[in-house]
Order: sequence, then C-alpha cells, then structure tokens
Amino acid sequence: LLSLTSPAQTLSTSATLAMNEAVVKRRAAGRETIHLGFGEAAFPLHPLLKAALAEAATSTSYAPVFGIPALRQAIAAYLTRTREVSYCADQIVVGPGSKALLFALVQILEGDILLPIPSWVSYAPIAHLGNRRVIGVQTEPDDHHRLTPQVLSQAMTQARQDGADPRILLVNTPSNPTGSMFDLTDVEALARWAREAGVTLISDEIYAELAHGWREHISPARFYPEGCIVTGGLSKAFSAGGWRLGYAALPSTTAGNKAMSALRSLASEIWSAAATPIQEAALAAFLPNSSVEHYVQCSALVHGYVARQLYDALTQLGIPCPRPAGGFYLYPDFSPWKTALLQRGIKTSQELAHYLLEEWDIATFPGSAFNEEPLTLHLRLATSLLCEPEHVTSQEEREAELW
Ligand code: PLP
Repeated sequence: LLSLTSPAQTLSTSATLAMNEAVVKRRAAGRETIHLGFGEAAFPLHPLLKAALAEAATSTSYAPVFGIPALRQAIAAYLTRTREVSYCADQIVVGPGSKALLFALVQILEGDILLPIPSWVSYAPIAHLGNRRVIGVQTEPDDHHRLTPQVLSQAMTQARQDGADPRILLVNTPSNPTGSMFDLTDVEALARWAREAGVTLISDEIYAELAHGWREHISPARFYPEGCIVTGGLSKAFSAGGWRLGYAALPSTTAGNKAMSALRSLASEIWSAAATPIQEAALAAFLPNSSVEHYVQCSALVHGYVARQLYDALTQLGIPCPRPAGGFYLYPDFSPWKTALLQRGIKTSQELAHYLLEEWDIATFPGSAFNEEPLTLHLRLATSLLCEPEHVTSQEEREAELW
C-alpha cells in the first residue's frame, strides 16, 4: 500500500546525523566517547542573537516566502561586504537551512551534477532525489584537494561519453570533509572553467567565516557573478545550527530572475517561509556589529588552533593529512598503518571508524561516506567539539601561535 519511489527506496538517514545520534546514545548509556564525528559549533550563542530571539518570540505571523525584507537586505549587504561581489535584497532567498536550499536548487536547475570527491555526505543524496546523475571529480590530498580545469574537463568529457549531461558544479570552500580551501588562483581558474563550460556553479560557503587565518576565503561568485549561486547560513560560524536558517544568493540576470521565481514557487509549496522569530533574530548576525564579528573571528581562530594541534599530532605519527585551512575538519589518511590494521581485520575506512568507536570510544567518520574509495583508509575528524569556550577569551594570546 505504501510503495516508495526508487530514490526513496535507497535513502538512509544522513550518515553524520546517524553517527551523532549513536554517540548521544552511548553517552546516555554511560560510555565516555570522544566525539570527533560531528561538525557542530561548540561555542555558546552570541548574547545579542539570544536577546534578539527572546524579543522576537511574539512574531507569530508567517513571513514572506523568501524571507523578511530587512533580513534579505542585511544578507545582501553582508555578502557585498565579505565576498567583494555586489548583491541586492532581490537576489537573496532565506530558507530553513542551507541544506534545504541546496535541495531546492537541485530540483529547479537542469542537468547532471559534477561533484568533487571527497565531498559532503548530503550532496549525492540530494542529487539522487532530484534524479540527477553524479559525476565524481577525484581530487588529491597531495595537491590540497584542488579542483583544476584539467580534472574538471576530463570529468566532463568522460561524463558526456557516458551519456550524462553535466550542467551543475557543486563546490564547498572551506571543505567538509578535507578542511582545504581554494586559493585565489584556483578560484579564478575554477570560475573561468565553469563560465567557458556553461556550467552553473553552486558555491556552498557555509564555513566561509571560519578560515583559520593563513588562507583567505574567496568566493567564486567574485569571478563568475552571472553563473554562481552562493549558499550559507547561521549553522557554523554563528553556532546556531538548530535555528535552521540559511540563505542562497542568485545572479541578478534574466536567468537568475527566472530561477528565483521557480524557487519561490517550490519554497511556497514546501516550507512556506523560515520561522519568523528566527529570521528576526538572524538580523543580529548579519548587520555590522563589531562584537559579533569578534566572536566569529575568535571561533575561526580557536577552530584553527585545535586543528593545528591535531594536525601536528597526526604528522608526528606519520599520518599524512592536508593542512587544514578553514572550517571544522581534518582528513587524515591512515594507509601508512595498513599492515597493522589488516592484522586486526580492518581493510576499509568504514571498518576503521567502527573499530575506533568500539575499541577506543573515539567517534570519527569514514572517508567512504564522502564518496571516497572505501579502501583508502581516510577518516574525517571534526575539531568543533574539542573547542572549549574558554578559548574564546584567550584567543589573542593564542593568535601568535597560529600557523
Ligand atoms: N553544507 C555543508 C558542507 C555542511 O557541512 C553542512 C552542515 O553540516 C551544511 C551545508 C548544512 O547547513 P545548514 O545547517 O545551513 O542546512
């Protein structure tokens, strides 16, 4: 009686959320677990956001589908300040988290999807739910997971030979899971390639504010404003994942306006609007405010500091790992321990993550969840839950030690 569509038959709960739930259960059962498996900001909410939400509690009316005008305006100005691209409020869509917006964008945009390997766990399921083919573009740790025009062109040619029609490229800088960031030259080359290939570039910039200090976040929208869609939100840098507030910024072109209109229809039929009190409180995050900006900078530096400690420890153990540049993650490769691991019957990243959890009470996340070859023995380690709030106050002293 309840037959499922074929994409729904292959769905499972988002692997990161499932891992987090497993850790919560273990802890409730009294099992101490070091949680390196989940990317959630550990910092307390900024007091201004907290006060703003308390004040907005009585805003019970539905908001406009794309968000309250003041917030759309504030996000446009925020992006204009931080991305060196000029945005106006009409280009901004506010929704219940950037994940929902990514899902909606894939529903309305045409074509198959080029996806770097490794990349965030939810992209491939989002593509499959939209009945799109995923074309994996392998990136290499030795090359800082760069996405070069050469690898993109090769993937494009191969995809076309296989009968696919790639028209969307989804990138994420700083990256979940690798912690890498594209530099200026790479971003420029990527944007140029996408323009020449006639590909829409979706740039997931949810970790943009959390650059650790030695590399600057640069949005591809700066070089490809007419073909780039930027997404972001409150979940990471503003420590408010549970508020479910994200945004997408679309190009101000005729095609961009048509996409806005399709997105509006879709949003109006699915979520109607993001929660009104959350939108009102979110204004405090995006309006210029030196205290909020300082808080975000501290968060970035503390995450960078913890990433550095883990990176140094891994390097001393002879475990290769791309140098983390932003966000919450490190992505070490445990293959130097292959022989010892094989003796324990461990051949895949999934088995390694399971072993660490069961034998050592350490929750990590296997590379295979990020579309990586299972036998590569990569794990993703999240720094966020190792960051203690007291680091916030002492960050200036620590700044000197960073990178
Ligand atoms: N994009 C990436 C790369 C993420 O890691 C996450 C959250 O884990 C999201 C998007 C989702 O963000 P939001 O909470 O805005 O839906």
